[in-house]
Amino acid sequence: MSLFITSLNSGSNGNCYYIGNEREAVLIDAGISCRGTERRMNRIGLSISAVKAIFISHEHADHITGIPGISKKHQIPVYFTESTFQSSKVPIEDHLLNYFKGGQTITIGSLAIKAFTKFHDACDPQSFMVTGNQVNIGIFTDIGSVCQPLIEHFQQCHAAFLESNYCEDMLANGSYPIYLKKRISGKFGHLSNFQALELFVKYKPPHLSHLILAHLSKNNNDPLLVEKLFGEKAGSTKISVASRYQETEVYKIEYTPVILPRKAVPLKQLSLF
Ligand SMILES: [Zn+2]
Ligand SMILES: [Zn+2]
Repeated sequence: MSLFITSLNSGSNGNCYYIGNEREAVLIDAGISCRGTERRMNRIGLSISAVKAIFISHEHADHITGIPGISKKHQIPVYFTESTFQSSKVPIEDHLLNYFKGGQTITIGSLAIKAFTKFHDACDPQSFMVTGNQVNIGIFTDIGSVCQPLIEHFQQCHAAFLESNYCEDMLANGSYPIYLKKRISGKFGHLSNFQALELFVKYKPPHLSHLILAHLSKNNNDPLLVEKLFGEKAGSTKISVASRYQETEVYKIEYTPVILPRKAVPLKQLSLF
């Protein structure tokens, strides 16, 4: 009654997240090279032969650059929404191309991958929740603002990769041009440390054993700051920060009963702390 998860790489230079049971696994996004993916998996004792499918969240380069190499060499099927595939323009063999729609659940062996739409400046961006052995894992990165489906899926998770992209002060006082600051902090950009922390503090379910903060900005964030911020509010949840340079350890996520709140309170009605 467990799943194994790791971040193989996380950030604007490439994203790839592994979720699997003892026999089979899926990757969410393929934003690093085939060699980089293989090397990271080898180091932590994971086999790419277990990977039965790759699911793509959106067409930005840091989520798709590894697709042609990995899918061709290992003959792994890749799942896109139709418009994400058209926008990504990656070469892929016909028999490996598969489509899904937002709201749909796809079954790969004994894993169920549920997609749902998110706010991000891509054509049809999707978040995912992967379920196996009754364990729910959220993959929530590249999100401009928190929406109700994100809250509802977060509340079901035993572990989640959650974007904590930028520190508001570092972005505001940094050297990025105004248009880029606006894009990052806008409704269709990325989640700030504060936005991610607010989601965590207000909606953390009792069964959430692991939170892995992800997609940290190189220039506008600091992993130690993120670890401290979330560590202070962690309670019984183990906090980790995914690296933009290497894989995390493999986390074993155990099933515990999912306890859902009677009714989620809309985020805008709450004030933090
Ligand atoms: Zn990204
Ligand atoms: Zn993106």
